[in-house]
Amino acid sequence: MCATKTADIEATVAQASSLAAAGAAVVRIAVDNAREAQSLAAIRERSAVNLSVDLQENYRLAEDIAPWVDKIRYNPGHLYHHEPQRAWQDKVRWLADVAARHDIALRVGVNCGSVDPAKRDRFPSGDSLGPMLASALEHCDLLDGLGFRRYCVSLKDSDPAKVIEVNGRFAAARPDVPLHLGVTEAGMPPQGILKTRTALMELLRRGIGDTIRVSLTVPNARKPEEVLAGKQILDDVAADRFPTAADFGSQRLNIISCPSCSRVENEAFVELAQQVHEITRPWAEYPITVAVMGCRVNGPGETDDADLGLWCGPNFVNLKRDSRSLGAFPYTEILPRLQAELKDIVRGIGAGPPRPLDGRGAGGEGGPE
Ligand code: SF4
Repeated sequence: MCATKTADIEATVAQASSLAAAGAAVVRIAVDNAREAQSLAAIRERSAVNLSVDLQENYRLAEDIAPWVDKIRYNPGHLYHHEPQRAWQDKVRWLADVAARHDIALRVGVNCGSVDPAKRDRFPSGDSLGPMLASALEHCDLLDGLGFRRYCVSLKDSDPAKVIEVNGRFAAARPDVPLHLGVTEAGMPPQGILKTRTALMELLRRGIGDTIRVSLTVPNARKPEEVLAGKQILDDVAADRFPTAADFGSQRLNIISCPSCSRVENEAFVELAQQVHEITRPWAEYPITVAVMGCRVNGPGETDDADLGLWCGPNFVNLKRDSRSLGAFPYTEILPRLQAELKDIVRGIGAGPPRPLDGRGAGGEGGPE
C-alpha cells in the first residue's frame, strides 16, 4: 500500500512503481477527499500495476474513483458515518452498481478496530470475532443477492491467532468467496514479519487465502520490504517451511503499530513508533500491549484493545490508557509520559523486577520501578 500523500502524484507514482518492481500485483492507495480522487487519473496514466483504492468514510467518492482503478475496498464499519439516515444496504447497492458499471472489483474489508457497531451490539463484549464474521457474511449475502460476483473479503486483526481463527471460520462458511489475508498493525520488522508469517502460513497451509498483504511500520523508502516479506512467505509455503509457534503479547510486551498510509498526520509517526519500541524494551517481559497509530481516522478504534494507545495528530500525540483518554501531548513530551504510565501499570501488576535485557538491570534508566 502507498503511504505517500495521494495528492502528491509524483511521489505516489514513484511508490506504486517501487512496490510493483518488488513484485506487488496490486497496489492500494487511500482516498479520502475529492482532491485525492482527482489525482487518480494522472496516477493511472503513469502506473501499469493494478490499482485498488481504500475508501473509509466518504463512500460517495466511489463514483469519481471507479474510472481509474481496478478495485475499491470499502470497510463495512465505516459505512454508517456519512448519511447515517441511509441504510448500509442502500450504500452497498450503490457501490456495487458503480463497480458493475465500471467493471471493477470490490473488497469487503473488515477490520478488528472498526467493526460495524450494530454488529458489535449483537455479541457478548468479549467476542471480537463474532461481529467481524457476521459483518462479512451479511455483506456477502447482500452482494450475492444483487448478482454482483466480483468481490473478495478480508478479515484482519493484529493478533495472528485471531486472524487464523476468523479467516478459518469464514472460509468454512463461504469457501466460494476469495479471501485477502493480512495481519493488521503487525508493527515493525522483524516482529511484524513474524506475526504475519505465523498467521498467513497457517492459513495458506490449509488452502485458505487468495491474495496476501504484509503490513509493516517502515519509512516510505523501505515499503518494498512488505512485498519481499510476502514473497518469502509464499516461497516458504511452497517449500513446506513453516515457523514454530510464537507468543505475541499474551505473556510479554506486545507493540502493535500501523503500517502508515497517506492518512498519516505527521511524518514523525514512523520515528515515533521506532522510539516506542526502543524505550519500552525494559518492559519486554510484562504482559502489556502498546498500540501506535498514525492518524485520527483509525487511531481511536484501533487502540481499543491496548493497555496504552497512541495516535498521531498534526502537532500532538493522543494517549489513552485502556478506554480512558489521558490527553494530547506534544511530540517532545509523549515518550516520558508513556514511560510514566508503563511504570504505573507495572506497579499495578505487582510483578517482580523484569529480567535484565542486554546487560541492563530492572531499575535502569527509564525502566520499571
Ligand atoms: Fe493509515 Fe491511519 Fe490506518 Fe495508520 S491507522 S494505516 S495512518 S488509516
